[in-house]
Amino acid sequence: MNQMTVGIPFVDLKSQHQPIQTQLKEAIHAILEQGDFILGRALSDFEAAFAAASGTKYGVGVASGTDAIALGLQACNIGSGDEVILPANTFVATLIGVLRAGAKPILVDCDPQTALIDLEAAAKAITPQTKAIIPVHLYGQMVSPRQLLDFADTYKLLIFEDAAQAHLAERDGYRAGSVGIAAAFSFYPSKNLGAFGDGGMLLTRDSDVAQKMVRLRNYGASQKYFHVESGTNSRLDTLQAAVLLEKLPYLPEWNRDRLTIAQQYDNELAPLASAGIIPVQNHSGSGHVYHLYVIKVDESCFIERQQIQDKLAADGIQTGIHYPIPCHLQPAFTYLGYQQGDFPHSEKLAKQILSLPMYPGLSSSQIKEVALAIASVVSTSLRPESQSSAPIGSKAA
Ligand SMILES: *Cc1c(COP(=O)(O)O)cnc(C)c1O
Repeated sequence: MNQMTVGIPFVDLKSQHQPIQTQLKEAIHAILEQGDFILGRALSDFEAAFAAASGTKYGVGVASGTDAIALGLQACNIGSGDEVILPANTFVATLIGVLRAGAKPILVDCDPQTALIDLEAAAKAITPQTKAIIPVHLYGQMVSPRQLLDFADTYKLLIFEDAAQAHLAERDGYRAGSVGIAAAFSFYPSKNLGAFGDGGMLLTRDSDVAQKMVRLRNYGASQKYFHVESGTNSRLDTLQAAVLLEKLPYLPEWNRDRLTIAQQYDNELAPLASAGIIPVQNHSGSGHVYHLYVIKVDESCFIERQQIQDKLAADGIQTGIHYPIPCHLQPAFTYLGYQQGDFPHSEKLAKQILSLPMYPGLSSSQIKEVALAIASVVSTSLRPESQSSAPIGSKAA
């Protein structure tokens, strides 16, 4: 973190946990008493609760979202010799998961308005080896389940959801995690539902996939000391599950709060559209769970994103970029053979996007302050009534 004082942090986990700290401490204390640290009761309780809340059947807790993808693909029998389509603009863990499963990643571009995978581009990337598509429900917005199911049906592909940013998101009457054969979630602390450390889960409605996942996370054992395949050690700690089980009932309320915050940002920032400040579009109404609130500083804006980010930082407002380099341009993956220019929408977004502070509890006046700070850099000319001192977004008396 820099030297400047932070007035509005990017996320604030303390304020989320403070009101429920007594029950969190009790839940942790109960595990200390029971001592069932590995594959304990709170884990199976949380697996069942999170699967049910997400509209599906089985949950298998693992050590991280990345493991949920890597092992989850294996549990779906996706691996060596299979091609898997995924978006170029996602967190790199989606790609790493595909590689770890032994499958061949096929990257495709995104829709410039929503930043979600472009299914037309995906259709063009299909070969006889294509086995699955990974829609990434980016920023908390699901890729349209209706379109995905049509797509998968047309091309006879499996859908494996990366729902690491989309706990309880909804679209077309589906919840994230209930669309494909399986879905990966992350409980990294700052995700919409976060543990006190790393954690992840695979959700599925397929009992074979669930059973294979249970083996894969536990050295491939079907029973103690009997190994039917080569797995690994990747279990969600009982302690983390106990924390998550306590937090889960609050998730719908936290998600609603995020939506309200996003709607206020939309309103406050609307006057800046003509100055080139364009929020990434929400095509799923109240089903968007806004893990992140992302704006684009587009080519019509007369200053650079960096200047906006610097100005906000100087005002004590933390921002982020999700993500500054698309997967295909990361040095680690040059061997995949992609080049600059392969995915122009993803490349352009990486240069234009800016994530604004977003967490349950962010206040209305803080949102105004963020919008005002952006307005002051991009559009002095857009202030209402140049004589008046009324800031952008302030309601007329
Ligand atoms: C966070 C995240 C992951 C990885 O989850 P970890 O728990 O950090 O391993 C994967 N995909 C996306 C889209 C994410 O945001």
